[in-house]
Amino acid sequence: MSFKSLGLSEPLLKTIAEQNYTQPYPIQQEAIPAILKGSDVLGIAKTGSGKTAGFVLPILELFQDKPAPKNRTVRALVLVPTRELAVQIGVVFQTFGEKLPRKVKTLAVYGGVSINPQMIALQGVEILVATPGRLIELLSYKALSISETEILVLDEADKMLDLGFADEMKDIFFLLPKKRQSILFSATLGDSVDAINKNLLKNPLRIEIAEEEQNIDQITQTGYFVDPERKGPLLRYLIKTQEMKQVLVFVSATRTADNLVEKLNKNGIQAAAMHSKKSQGARTEALNKFKSGKLTVLVATDLVSRGIDIQFLPYVINFELPRSPKDYVHRIGRTGRAEASGEAISLICPEDVHHFKIIQKKMGKRVTMNESYDLNLQGY
Ligand code: AMP
Repeated sequence: MSFKSLGLSEPLLKTIAEQNYTQPYPIQQEAIPAILKGSDVLGIAKTGSGKTAGFVLPILELFQDKPAPKNRTVRALVLVPTRELAVQIGVVFQTFGEKLPRKVKTLAVYGGVSINPQMIALQGVEILVATPGRLIELLSYKALSISETEILVLDEADKMLDLGFADEMKDIFFLLPKKRQSILFSATLGDSVDAINKNLLKNPLRIEIAEEEQNIDQITQTGYFVDPERKGPLLRYLIKTQEMKQVLVFVSATRTADNLVEKLNKNGIQAAAMHSKKSQGARTEALNKFKSGKLTVLVATDLVSRGIDIQFLPYVINFELPRSPKDYVHRIGRTGRAEASGEAISLICPEDVHHFKIIQKKMGKRVTMNESYDLNLQGY
C-alpha cells in the first residue's frame, strides 16, 4: 500500500518521501483515510507505531482546502501528557507542513517555561499542541479560543490520566464545541480512557495495533547480576567495552541520575541527565545533544521517558529497575523502534532478583542473565 492511495496530495507526498517513509505503517493505513473522511478514531497504539503521522498528515491535508480562521481560534487541538511529547509532535507538524502551498501555523505550548512568549506566538495559530495545565492557563488569559475547534486529538490519553490531568481535561472538553471531529490515542484502553471514548467520540473507527509485542521481539534483552557497589563500574565497563555510542540509561530517582552523570563525565563518557527537576531548557538541550550524537549517555527517569523518540536508538540500560512491569516494557521500547533492532540491558542486584522475575513473567519473555562477578572492573 502507498501513501498516495490513502488520499494524500502531491505536496505532502513529496515531504513523506523526503522523510524516507516508503510505506504507511498499519495504523496510518487505517487512520489517515478515516480522518480525511471526517470520522472519529479510537487508536489503541503505543509510541513507535507511527501514530503521530497517522493524525498529523490528514489534519494538514484537510486544512489545505480551508481559509485561515479568525484570530485566536485554534482549529485543531492536540492534547498531550508531557512537554517532550508536545515539542516532538510540534516538530512533526512543522516538518510535514513546511512545503505545503497554504502554510498552517502550528505551535507547541507546555508548562515549566514562561507563558508570555507563548501568548505572543499564539497569534494566527491553527494547530495547537498543548499539555492540559498550560492550555487551561492560556485559556484563562483569553490568549486563544477553542470554542470553534474542528478537530480534537487526545494523544497518550492513558498517560494524561495517570499524570492526574483528568480535571483539566474535563474543563477543556467543556469549552469545545459539540460539533467536531475527535481522535483518541491511548496505549491501553482501561475504564477511564473508555469513559472518555464513550463521552467524546461518535461512532469511532477503532484501530488496535499490538505494536508492543512485535517491538519486544526485536529487542535483545540481557541482564547482569551485580552487587550494588559494582553497578557504576559495570555500567562504564559495558559502555566502553561494547563501544556504545548512544545509550539511554534509566534510574528511578533524580539524585541517582545526577550522581551517575557526574561519575560518567569524570570517567570521560559524555553524559547528561533528564528528569523532572531539570528546567525545560536543560531537558531540551540534553535531548538535542543526545540525538545529534554529542552525548553518549542520557540518564533519564520514567516520567520524562515518554517523550523521547529517537529513531534507531541502539541501547537502553536499566541501571535501576522500574517498579511496574508496564514501565519496564515502555523503557525497553525506546530501543528497537520503527523496525530497527536494539539491545536492552538490566543491572540486577540481589534484592532485585525476585522483582525482575515478576517483570519477566508479566512480559511473557525470559531475559538471558549473565554473571558479572568474574569481570575485572578495575579502572572503570
Ligand atoms: P510515533 O509512533 O508516531 O512516535 O513514530 C515512531 C517513529 O516511526 C518516528 O520516528 C517516525 O518518524 C517513524 N515513522 C512513522 N511512520 C513511518 C513510516 N511510514 N515509515 C518510516 N518511519 C515512520
